[in-house]
Amino acid sequence: MTLVYQSTRDAKNTVSASQAILQGLATDGGLFTPLTYPKVDLDFETLKNASYQEVAKLILSAFLDDFTEEELDYCIEQAYDSKFDDERIAPLVKLDGQYNLELFHGSTIAFKDMALSILPHFITTAAKKHGLENKIVILTATSGDTGKAAMAGFADVVGTEIIVFYPKDGVSKVQELQMTTQTGANTHVVAIDGNFDDAQTNVKHMFNDPALRQRLAEHKMQFSSANSMNIGRLVPQIVYYIYAYAQLVKTGQIAAGDEVNFTVPTGNFGNILAAYYAKQIGLPVGKLICASNENNVLTDFFRTQVYDKKRSFKVTSSPSMDILVSSNLERLIFHLLGNDAEKTADLMQALNQLGQYELTDFDQEILELFAAEYATEAETSAEIKRVYDASHYIEDPHTAVASAVYQKYLRETGDQRPTVIASTASPYKFPRVAVQAVTGASDLTDFEALVKLQELSGVSLPTAVDGLETAPVLHKTQAKADQMQAAVENYLGL
Ligand SMILES: *Cc1c(COP(=O)(O)O)cnc(C)c1O
Repeated sequence: MTLVYQSTRDAKNTVSASQAILQGLATDGGLFTPLTYPKVDLDFETLKNASYQEVAKLILSAFLDDFTEEELDYCIEQAYDSKFDDERIAPLVKLDGQYNLELFHGSTIAFKDMALSILPHFITTAAKKHGLENKIVILTATSGDTGKAAMAGFADVVGTEIIVFYPKDGVSKVQELQMTTQTGANTHVVAIDGNFDDAQTNVKHMFNDPALRQRLAEHKMQFSSANSMNIGRLVPQIVYYIYAYAQLVKTGQIAAGDEVNFTVPTGNFGNILAAYYAKQIGLPVGKLICASNENNVLTDFFRTQVYDKKRSFKVTSSPSMDILVSSNLERLIFHLLGNDAEKTADLMQALNQLGQYELTDFDQEILELFAAEYATEAETSAEIKRVYDASHYIEDPHTAVASAVYQKYLRETGDQRPTVIASTASPYKFPRVAVQAVTGASDLTDFEALVKLQELSGVSLPTAVDGLETAPVLHKTQAKADQMQAAVENYLGL
């Protein structure tokens, strides 16, 4: 029996895992979502001694059940190898009062590598499986980290083309250079004069445009997505929650069965949704703490059940979370509504047309799994300093948002369960913010800050940023947000 993935907006639109991965987004605008959960034997007495790759095998074979064992072995081998600078892949670090799950040891030093180092292999494997001859065109909107991680994964992969859109003024210098210096004849990067939501909305439009799809098909091409709207992004993210828990058991911090909280710095709601799915297959999760920056639309949603995007967009020091329309929340809404596609479609239409919706009749038990808070810019900076003083460890601003939110949660609830902070980026990706928070120095360039950061943290410079300053800039295209489709047509020769 294969698992069914259904569009959140149309009960009749159902596919298998490999088809969902190939399509990326459902053509009705919805997201492919599991209706039931696979049975997984989470025996932590065994899992505590398993490698990351072995845990990956267990989880991926359960959720992506129309791939063969050989196919998954191949994907896992290609993905979780020496591209990661730590053989544990996702090391768990014990700090004063919290555990930081470091998800930034891949080639672009942000957590997007955890899934994007495997997604290209899922896509090419699925294409082969279905005898597909079309070239796969990956369209990606990025708030800074997905773009680079996706290009690193897809660069020069035969049969694919990748086009990345990022907000020109919405990413850090290091993030921008990581993208604009990307090599690979099939990679394209466009800076748009809009924010992430503009980029994401226009990408979704292109996906949902039947005429454009038809023209692609005539040229033997089809779109897919590397954003977390693709279920092939979410499933590999379940793995590290299981792995982190197994490490806690292994080191005797908890006994198998004890509940653990996870605090997740959230933007598009993909990372925390993966934690929710981990819970659904039996991981003993206490609270899932949804941490936002000053773009706190999710904090308000969890408090009031009103999702209201009509507010000003803030550019913060944690740019990968500067998002007002959080795509993957649609999947949770679908589950909160008892997997009702019709009701979900209505709410998403309201969001589109009115800029808001209110959830009225929903599954209380699911909602209560979540806690939500946000951290201001000042609180985030103060948290970087606090953690440095307490543990001699430097968090990146996204991780610090989560860490600060956990501190607030702890003060409000006194919840003493062990808590893991999803640490989503290396501080080397945001060196100026990190150094300023610790030392107060505000006049350093990004590259001066990289040197200072090394001194402060004692962690050596990751290869991902080494040499970035002098690498040739290969992508210089800029476009207005409403010209994104023209750029795509131009690259693809449509
Ligand atoms: C993408 C990203 C996030 C947000 O993750 P979502 O899955 O979009 O919620 C947080 N931190 C960093 C560093 C990221 O790159």
